Amino acid sequence: MIAREEVERVVARNSKPGSPMLSVYLDVDPTQEVNRQRGFEPALKNMLRTIEGQLNSDRERKVFAGNALRVMRFVSGYKPTAQGLVMFGREADGFFWHRELHAPLRNDAHWDDSPHLRPLLETMDDYERYGVILTDKARARLFTVFLGEIEEHSGVFTADDVRHTKTVGTDHWRSQTHFERTSDLHALWHLKQVAEKMVLLADARRFDRLVLAGPVEATTELERLLPKRLLARLAGSMALSVEATGLQVLEATRRFERPALREMENDLVKKLIATAAKKVQADTGLLATLNALNKNRVWRLLYAEGFAPQGRRCADCTALMGEGQPVCDHCGGNTEPVGDLIERIVERVVGVGGKVEAVRGPAAELLKEAGSIGAFMRF
Ligand SMILES: [Zn+2]
Repeated sequence: MIAREEVERVVARNSKPGSPMLSVYLDVDPTQEVNRQRGFEPALKNMLRTIEGQLNSDRERKVFAGNALRVMRFVSGYKPTAQGLVMFGREADGFFWHRELHAPLRNDAHWDDSPHLRPLLETMDDYERYGVILTDKARARLFTVFLGEIEEHSGVFTADDVRHTKTVGTDHWRSQTHFERTSDLHALWHLKQVAEKMVLLADARRFDRLVLAGPVEATTELERLLPKRLLARLAGSMALSVEATGLQVLEATRRFERPALREMENDLVKKLIATAAKKVQADTGLLATLNALNKNRVWRLLYAEGFAPQGRRCADCTALMGEGQPVCDHCGGNTEPVGDLIERIVERVVGVGGKVEAVRGPAAELLKEAGSIGAFMRF
């Protein structure tokens, strides 16, 4: 399963001036007729040829050819089991990274000093990370679901945990629950442990939302026991055998993917605008965002998908500037135009461990009124 930390590691290898990286996004969706005939191979060759045609020196063409060969070799031996394939490579330091994505991807290739991360990050933002708790009266299993992949975290709920968890004050107990009425106190006690442990897990595993699964009586009871802040993240409950396989859990939770995210984006943009109005921990608009970025203060960046402003970069301190700024705000150095400004911004935010969200639809419309971009600050 792809993790944010992994993308951050790719970013950490970014920007080696004079030593470009090849970034490739390939639509390999096996349900497409053309891909059943391995049509993604000629598509890849075409993209690589296009880049090659734009190179200026023999030296650069030679370096590129080595990178192109690496990617083509990998793809020629590749059997698609997902919709998209992402690859980043730089032969100069033997770096090659690839992942399959269970999400639609558009063909895209870049040859640049830094990895072209935007489509990957946007795809990751399109999907929420779900925690699934599968439990009955005696057992509990934890799964995370992200981008069409599922992972089971074994050993999360162990007998050992239960033994060492301190007893909860009786004031937290809700009286006359189903389990108490049926005198199944051990089951109630077990579910209480699960509910408590969930609070820690939700933070550690970075769930956006939570799904409860298992026999109805167990999920109903667990829902009653969940603390409020987790209830707010509850996507739903479903009946499922506690013995279900990962694949069965994935299939069953598919329906919780996605639509809620749009609501969340809307709320997030509203919150950004309201916070920015107070001028404390957020700001909106390109110049204010760049200013915060250059001070490494951006904690969470939001921009309207498709927003593609022009910009400049300081040749001395690499600070990013707006289009009309020939001189750097920070060091007084000269600035030069940069290609994809948003890409440079995103890269920098991710590089310092910040979050990035490309918002769409109504959330994007709302954000456009505030300059199409903004950020929550670190301090
Ligand atoms: Zn500067």
